[in-house]
Amino acid sequence: MPLPRLQVVGGETERLLYQVGWGLEIERCRGTVANDQRTGTGFDNRILLCPGVGDHLVMLNGLLRPLVHRAWSAMVAQLNGLDESRLESFLFGTDRIALAAVRPGLLDMQDGRCFYCGGALGQSAEVDHFIPWARCPDNGIENLVVADTGCNGAKRDFLAAAGHVRHWRERNVTRSTALAAIAGAVGWETHADETLGVARGLYLRLPLGARLWLRGPDFCPPDPEGLRETLA
Ligand SMILES: [Zn+2]
Repeated sequence: MPLPRLQVVGGETERLLYQVGWGLEIERCRGTVANDQRTGTGFDNRILLCPGVGDHLVMLNGLLRPLVHRAWSAMVAQLNGLDESRLESFLFGTDRIALAAVRPGLLDMQDGRCFYCGGALGQSAEVDHFIPWARCPDNGIENLVVADTGCNGAKRDFLAAAGHVRHWRERNVTRSTALAAIAGAVGWETHADETLGVARGLYLRLPLGARLWLRGPDFCPPDPEGLRETLA
């Protein structure tokens, strides 16, 4: 329902972001929608982005996502009389305690070493989202690595450099069975293809002048050819 409303400016529909094949009348056509959800027939339910919109959404993701989360939480909290900050972390936060479930398995797979620097991990090993949670909330096992607090703290919400991406992709390909076993043992989510799709969406559309996290305080420019090859 919201889609036909979102591009209405001053009473006129301005298709600046996308085209959809239905209008406000959809509200009175619940039967048609329900039928389409059941049978996959009935009406054209595709959302067709205008040229360039997809790339810009990816590029602005880091800015847009927190704003959308914030506005959405504020609205839901207001409608239900809830505490906004708690609701936001419930809806969009990561659950550190839950991540601990896959830590031993990943630690074992990495021979007790930090994914990024290879240093020995002690008690301080932390589960890190390779594609940062702030860029895309993906808790799938393929997106998780174990890192020491130094690397994890320095990487924060930055995208990792091409060398790390190669290492990560190789792990996901060569250790896919072991990853599935870790996930299976604790009932964790696994969706290798989706996670790879997200990595492609982010890494193959990096803006000019992007900087990727290398180590500690160091960043480097992307290596577009290497990244294309790695993520092919
Ligand atoms: Zn490290």
